[in-house]
Amino acid sequence: MHGLQRGHSLMLSYRHGFHAGNHADVIKHLVLLGLLEHMHQKDKPFVGIDTHSGNGFYRLDSAQAKKTKEAASGIIPLWRAWQSGKVENALIRRYLELVAGFNPPDVGSVPDCYPGSPAIIHSLLRDQDRLQLMELHTSEIDLLRHNFGRDRRVSIHHRDGFEGAVAVSPPTPRRGLMLIDPAYEDKNDYQRAIKTVLAVHERWQTGIIALWYPMLGKSRDHSRRLTEQLSRKLDSCVIELVVAPQSDEFGLFGSGMVVVNPPWQFEANFAPVLTELNAMLGGMAGAVPGRDA
Ligand code: SAM
Repeated sequence: MHGLQRGHSLMLSYRHGFHAGNHADVIKHLVLLGLLEHMHQKDKPFVGIDTHSGNGFYRLDSAQAKKTKEAASGIIPLWRAWQSGKVENALIRRYLELVAGFNPPDVGSVPDCYPGSPAIIHSLLRDQDRLQLMELHTSEIDLLRHNFGRDRRVSIHHRDGFEGAVAVSPPTPRRGLMLIDPAYEDKNDYQRAIKTVLAVHERWQTGIIALWYPMLGKSRDHSRRLTEQLSRKLDSCVIELVVAPQSDEFGLFGSGMVVVNPPWQFEANFAPVLTELNAMLGGMAGAVPGRDA
Protein backbone atom coordinates (compact mmCIF):
# COMPACT_ATOMS: atom_id res chain seq x y z
CA MET A 1 0.00 0.00 0.00
CA HIS A 2 1.44 3.35 -0.96
CA GLY A 3 1.11 6.39 1.23
CA LEU A 4 -1.26 9.09 0.06
CA GLN A 5 -1.64 12.15 2.19
CA ARG A 6 -4.84 13.78 1.27
CA GLY A 7 -4.71 17.31 0.00
CA HIS A 8 -1.08 17.98 0.86
CA SER A 9 2.23 16.49 -0.20
CA LEU A 10 0.78 13.94 -2.51
CA MET A 11 2.60 10.74 -3.25
CA LEU A 12 0.57 9.34 -6.09
CA SER A 13 2.34 6.34 -7.51
CA TYR A 14 -0.56 4.72 -9.36
CA ARG A 15 -0.25 5.12 -13.12
CA HIS A 16 -3.04 3.71 -15.20
CA GLY A 17 -0.65 2.93 -18.06
CA PHE A 18 0.37 -0.24 -16.20
CA HIS A 19 -3.23 -1.48 -16.13
CA ALA A 20 -4.86 -0.12 -19.29
CA GLY A 21 -7.07 -2.56 -21.16
CA ASN A 22 -7.20 -5.16 -18.39
CA HIS A 23 -10.45 -6.97 -17.51
CA ALA A 24 -11.36 -4.20 -15.06
CA ASP A 25 -11.10 -1.55 -17.79
CA VAL A 26 -13.21 -3.72 -20.08
CA ILE A 27 -16.14 -4.04 -17.68
CA LYS A 28 -15.88 -0.42 -16.52
CA HIS A 29 -15.79 0.95 -20.05
CA LEU A 30 -18.64 -1.30 -21.23
CA VAL A 31 -20.84 -0.05 -18.39
CA LEU A 32 -19.77 3.51 -19.23
CA LEU A 33 -20.63 3.04 -22.89
CA GLY A 34 -24.02 1.55 -22.00
CA LEU A 35 -24.79 4.60 -19.85
CA LEU A 36 -23.61 7.04 -22.53
CA GLU A 37 -25.82 5.35 -25.10
CA HIS A 38 -28.72 5.80 -22.70
CA MET A 39 -27.90 9.55 -22.64
CA HIS A 40 -28.09 9.58 -26.44
CA GLN A 41 -31.70 8.44 -26.37
CA LYS A 42 -32.73 12.09 -25.97
CA ASP A 43 -31.47 15.25 -27.66
CA LYS A 44 -31.42 17.04 -24.31
CA PRO A 45 -27.85 17.92 -23.30
CA PHE A 46 -26.01 15.76 -20.80
CA VAL A 47 -22.86 16.24 -18.75
CA GLY A 48 -20.26 13.54 -18.22
CA ILE A 49 -18.11 13.95 -15.10
CA ASP A 50 -14.99 11.82 -14.69
CA THR A 51 -13.54 12.37 -11.20
CA HIS A 52 -10.39 10.21 -11.58
CA SER A 53 -9.62 10.64 -15.26
CA GLY A 54 -6.10 9.38 -15.86
CA ASN A 55 -4.68 10.86 -19.06
CA GLY A 56 -7.13 9.57 -21.64
CA PHE A 57 -5.00 7.43 -23.96
CA TYR A 58 -2.72 4.45 -23.37
CA ARG A 59 -0.32 2.71 -25.73
CA LEU A 60 -0.33 -1.05 -25.37
CA ASP A 61 3.20 -1.22 -26.78
CA SER A 62 4.55 1.10 -24.04
CA ALA A 63 7.11 -0.10 -21.49
CA GLN A 64 4.43 0.17 -18.77
CA ALA A 65 1.91 -2.01 -20.61
CA LYS A 66 4.58 -4.51 -21.66
CA LYS A 67 5.82 -4.85 -18.11
CA THR A 68 2.49 -6.01 -16.65
CA LYS A 69 0.83 -7.45 -19.77
CA GLU A 70 -2.53 -6.77 -18.13
CA ALA A 71 -4.28 -6.15 -21.44
CA ALA A 72 -3.91 -9.91 -21.99
CA SER A 73 -6.65 -10.38 -19.39
CA GLY A 74 -9.07 -8.02 -21.13
CA ILE A 75 -8.99 -6.16 -24.39
CA ILE A 76 -6.56 -8.43 -26.26
CA PRO A 77 -8.57 -11.69 -26.12
CA LEU A 78 -11.74 -9.73 -26.79
CA TRP A 79 -10.17 -7.94 -29.75
CA ARG A 80 -8.95 -11.23 -31.23
CA ALA A 81 -12.37 -12.85 -30.80
CA TRP A 82 -13.89 -9.86 -32.59
CA GLN A 83 -11.37 -10.04 -35.43
CA SER A 84 -12.34 -13.69 -35.93
CA GLY A 85 -16.04 -12.77 -35.98
CA LYS A 86 -16.78 -14.44 -32.65
CA VAL A 87 -18.32 -11.54 -30.73
CA GLU A 88 -22.12 -11.74 -30.68
CA ASN A 89 -23.27 -9.05 -28.28
CA ALA A 90 -24.05 -5.71 -29.92
CA LEU A 91 -22.78 -3.53 -27.02
CA ILE A 92 -19.46 -5.41 -26.92
CA ARG A 93 -19.17 -4.98 -30.68
CA ARG A 94 -19.83 -1.23 -30.44
CA TYR A 95 -17.20 -0.99 -27.68
CA LEU A 96 -14.64 -2.76 -29.88
CA GLU A 97 -15.54 -0.51 -32.82
CA LEU A 98 -14.96 2.47 -30.53
CA VAL A 99 -11.52 1.12 -29.54
CA ALA A 100 -10.77 0.45 -33.22
CA GLY A 101 -11.61 4.09 -33.99
CA PHE A 102 -8.50 5.13 -32.01
CA ASN A 103 -6.28 2.78 -34.02
CA PRO A 104 -5.03 2.65 -37.60
CA PRO A 105 -7.21 0.51 -39.90
CA ASP A 106 -4.43 -2.01 -40.52
CA VAL A 107 -3.64 -2.57 -36.83
CA GLY A 108 -2.95 -6.23 -36.07
CA SER A 109 -4.05 -8.65 -33.38
CA VAL A 110 -3.28 -6.17 -30.58
CA PRO A 111 -4.59 -2.59 -30.66
CA ASP A 112 -1.81 0.05 -30.47
CA CYS A 113 -3.90 2.45 -28.48
CA TYR A 114 -6.46 1.87 -25.73
CA PRO A 115 -8.80 4.76 -24.90
CA GLY A 116 -9.33 5.73 -21.26
CA SER A 117 -12.64 6.90 -19.84
CA PRO A 118 -12.18 10.60 -20.83
CA ALA A 119 -11.61 9.56 -24.46
CA ILE A 120 -14.66 7.27 -24.38
CA ILE A 121 -16.96 9.97 -22.99
CA HIS A 122 -15.44 12.59 -25.29
CA SER A 123 -16.07 10.45 -28.36
CA LEU A 124 -19.80 10.35 -27.48
CA LEU A 125 -20.22 14.07 -26.80
CA ARG A 126 -22.59 15.94 -29.05
CA ASP A 127 -22.41 19.73 -29.57
CA GLN A 128 -24.83 20.35 -26.72
CA ASP A 129 -23.08 18.05 -24.20
CA ARG A 130 -20.38 18.84 -21.65
CA LEU A 131 -17.49 16.95 -20.07
CA GLN A 132 -15.79 17.70 -16.75
CA LEU A 133 -12.51 15.94 -16.07
CA MET A 134 -10.65 15.81 -12.75
CA GLU A 135 -7.23 14.37 -12.02
CA LEU A 136 -4.71 14.89 -9.23
CA HIS A 137 -1.47 13.49 -10.65
CA THR A 138 0.70 16.29 -12.05
CA SER A 139 1.93 14.53 -15.18
CA GLU A 140 -1.43 12.91 -15.93
CA ILE A 141 -3.17 16.29 -15.72
CA ASP A 142 -0.69 17.79 -18.20
CA LEU A 143 -1.42 15.00 -20.67
CA LEU A 144 -5.15 15.34 -20.07
CA ARG A 145 -4.97 19.06 -20.87
CA HIS A 146 -2.90 18.34 -23.96
CA ASN A 147 -5.41 15.70 -25.13
CA PHE A 148 -8.71 17.50 -24.46
CA GLY A 149 -7.94 21.09 -23.50
CA ARG A 150 -8.76 22.63 -26.87
CA ASP A 151 -12.39 21.48 -26.89
CA ARG A 152 -14.74 24.20 -25.55
CA ARG A 153 -17.18 21.51 -24.30
CA VAL A 154 -14.56 20.14 -21.90
CA SER A 155 -13.40 21.59 -18.57
CA ILE A 156 -10.37 20.10 -16.85
CA HIS A 157 -9.64 20.42 -13.15
CA HIS A 158 -6.40 19.62 -11.35
CA ARG A 159 -8.02 18.66 -8.08
CA ASP A 160 -9.02 15.89 -5.71
CA GLY A 161 -11.78 13.96 -7.45
CA PHE A 162 -13.69 13.07 -4.28
CA GLU A 163 -13.93 16.70 -3.20
CA GLY A 164 -14.48 17.87 -6.76
CA ALA A 165 -17.38 15.44 -7.27
CA VAL A 166 -19.32 17.02 -4.41
CA ALA A 167 -18.28 20.58 -5.28
CA VAL A 168 -19.65 20.41 -8.85
CA SER A 169 -22.95 18.78 -7.79
CA PRO A 170 -25.55 19.48 -9.01
CA PRO A 171 -23.93 20.24 -12.35
CA THR A 172 -25.24 22.12 -15.36
CA PRO A 173 -26.89 20.58 -17.26
CA ARG A 174 -28.58 18.43 -14.61
CA ARG A 175 -28.97 15.46 -16.91
CA GLY A 176 -25.84 13.38 -16.77
CA LEU A 177 -23.57 10.77 -15.33
CA MET A 178 -20.55 10.75 -13.06
CA LEU A 179 -17.83 8.10 -13.22
CA ILE A 180 -15.87 7.67 -9.97
CA ASP A 181 -12.86 5.47 -10.62
CA PRO A 182 -10.42 5.81 -7.71
CA ALA A 183 -7.01 4.16 -7.69
CA TYR A 184 -7.65 2.57 -4.24
CA GLU A 185 -3.94 3.10 -3.52
CA ASP A 186 -5.06 4.21 -0.12
CA LYS A 187 -7.43 2.03 1.96
CA ASN A 188 -9.30 5.23 2.86
CA ASP A 189 -10.42 5.44 -0.76
CA TYR A 190 -13.19 2.91 0.02
CA GLN A 191 -14.75 5.09 2.71
CA ARG A 192 -14.13 8.24 0.73
CA ALA A 193 -15.82 6.69 -2.31
CA ILE A 194 -18.90 5.70 -0.29
CA LYS A 195 -19.15 9.11 1.36
CA THR A 196 -18.70 10.85 -1.98
CA VAL A 197 -21.42 8.83 -3.70
CA LEU A 198 -23.86 9.59 -0.85
CA ALA A 199 -22.99 13.30 -0.81
CA VAL A 200 -23.24 13.64 -4.59
CA HIS A 201 -26.58 11.85 -4.60
CA GLU A 202 -27.91 14.13 -1.87
CA ARG A 203 -27.08 17.19 -3.97
CA TRP A 204 -27.88 15.70 -7.39
CA GLN A 205 -30.74 13.26 -6.93
CA THR A 206 -31.30 12.55 -10.62
CA GLY A 207 -27.65 12.05 -11.56
CA ILE A 208 -26.42 8.63 -12.60
CA ILE A 209 -23.32 7.74 -10.57
CA ALA A 210 -21.08 4.82 -11.57
CA LEU A 211 -18.49 3.81 -8.98
CA TRP A 212 -15.82 1.24 -9.90
CA TYR A 213 -14.36 -1.03 -7.19
CA PRO A 214 -11.81 -3.86 -7.19
CA MET A 215 -12.36 -7.43 -5.99
CA LEU A 216 -9.15 -8.61 -4.36
CA GLY A 217 -7.62 -11.50 -2.42
CA LYS A 218 -9.58 -12.49 0.69
CA SER A 219 -7.66 -10.50 3.30
CA ARG A 220 -7.76 -7.34 1.23
CA ASP A 221 -11.23 -7.45 -0.24
CA HIS A 222 -13.61 -4.63 0.73
CA SER A 223 -16.01 -5.03 -2.17
CA ARG A 224 -18.92 -6.60 -0.24
CA ARG A 225 -18.91 -3.91 2.43
CA LEU A 226 -18.85 -1.20 -0.23
CA THR A 227 -21.73 -2.61 -2.29
CA GLU A 228 -23.85 -3.39 0.79
CA GLN A 229 -23.44 0.08 2.24
CA LEU A 230 -24.50 1.74 -0.98
CA SER A 231 -27.22 -0.70 -2.03
CA ARG A 232 -28.94 -0.34 1.33
CA LYS A 233 -29.29 3.41 0.94
CA LEU A 234 -29.66 4.08 -2.76
CA ASP A 235 -31.62 3.00 -5.82
CA SER A 236 -28.75 1.18 -7.49
CA CYS A 237 -27.57 -1.94 -9.26
CA VAL A 238 -24.29 -3.82 -9.11
CA ILE A 239 -22.52 -5.23 -12.15
CA GLU A 240 -19.49 -7.47 -11.57
CA LEU A 241 -17.09 -9.35 -13.79
CA VAL A 242 -15.18 -12.15 -12.07
CA VAL A 243 -12.41 -13.76 -14.12
CA ALA A 244 -10.71 -16.05 -11.61
CA PRO A 245 -11.47 -17.71 -8.27
CA GLN A 246 -10.82 -15.55 -5.22
CA SER A 247 -7.64 -16.58 -3.44
CA ASP A 248 -5.69 -15.45 -0.40
CA GLU A 249 -3.02 -14.01 -2.58
CA PHE A 250 -2.74 -10.59 -4.11
CA GLY A 251 -4.65 -10.36 -7.32
CA LEU A 252 -7.49 -8.53 -8.96
CA PHE A 253 -9.76 -11.48 -9.60
CA GLY A 254 -12.67 -9.33 -10.62
CA SER A 255 -14.19 -5.90 -10.31
CA GLY A 256 -17.53 -4.22 -10.33
CA MET A 257 -19.52 -1.07 -10.71
CA VAL A 258 -22.25 0.27 -8.45
CA VAL A 259 -24.61 2.25 -10.66
CA VAL A 260 -26.83 4.69 -8.79
CA ASN A 261 -30.07 5.68 -10.57
CA PRO A 262 -29.50 3.10 -13.29
CA PRO A 263 -31.57 3.43 -16.46
CA TRP A 264 -34.68 1.23 -16.58
CA GLN A 265 -33.71 -2.46 -16.87
CA PHE A 266 -30.00 -1.60 -17.16
CA GLU A 267 -28.90 -4.62 -15.12
CA ALA A 268 -31.13 -7.05 -17.00
CA ASN A 269 -30.01 -5.63 -20.36
CA PHE A 270 -26.39 -6.02 -19.27
CA ALA A 271 -26.72 -9.71 -18.39
CA PRO A 272 -25.91 -10.99 -21.92
CA VAL A 273 -22.76 -8.83 -21.93
CA LEU A 274 -21.57 -10.56 -18.75
CA THR A 275 -22.41 -14.00 -20.12
CA GLU A 276 -20.27 -13.39 -23.19
CA LEU A 277 -17.43 -11.77 -21.22
CA ASN A 278 -17.43 -14.70 -18.80
CA ALA A 279 -17.10 -17.12 -21.69
CA MET A 280 -14.23 -15.14 -23.24
CA LEU A 281 -12.34 -13.78 -20.22
CA GLY A 282 -13.35 -16.11 -17.37
CA GLY A 283 -10.99 -18.70 -16.01
CA MET A 284 -7.85 -16.57 -16.35
CA ALA A 285 -5.62 -18.37 -13.88
CA GLY A 286 -4.03 -15.84 -11.56
CA ALA A 287 -5.92 -12.91 -13.08
CA VAL A 288 -3.71 -9.81 -12.83
CA PRO A 289 -1.51 -8.54 -10.00
CA GLY A 290 -3.88 -5.84 -8.81
CA ARG A 291 -3.60 -2.11 -8.51
CA ASP A 292 -1.28 -1.88 -5.55
CA ALA A 293 0.66 -5.10 -5.96
N1 SAM B 1 -10.80 6.53 -15.20
C1 SAM B 1 -9.61 6.19 -15.96
C2 SAM B 1 -9.99 5.31 -17.11
O1 SAM B 1 -10.95 4.52 -16.98
O2 SAM B 1 -9.35 5.40 -18.16
C3 SAM B 1 -8.57 5.53 -15.10
C4 SAM B 1 -8.29 6.24 -13.81
S1 SAM B 1 -7.14 5.47 -12.77
C5 SAM B 1 -7.91 4.06 -12.23
C6 SAM B 1 -7.21 6.49 -11.35
C7 SAM B 1 -6.64 7.88 -11.55
O3 SAM B 1 -6.95 8.65 -10.40
C8 SAM B 1 -5.13 7.93 -11.70
O4 SAM B 1 -4.81 8.62 -12.87
C9 SAM B 1 -4.66 8.71 -10.46
O5 SAM B 1 -3.56 9.57 -10.75
C10 SAM B 1 -5.86 9.53 -10.13
N2 SAM B 1 -6.02 9.90 -8.73
C11 SAM B 1 -5.56 9.30 -7.61
N3 SAM B 1 -6.05 9.90 -6.52
C12 SAM B 1 -6.85 10.90 -6.96
C13 SAM B 1 -7.69 11.85 -6.32
N4 SAM B 1 -7.80 11.91 -4.98
N5 SAM B 1 -8.39 12.72 -7.10
C14 SAM B 1 -8.31 12.67 -8.45
N6 SAM B 1 -7.54 11.78 -9.12
C15 SAM B 1 -6.84 10.91 -8.38
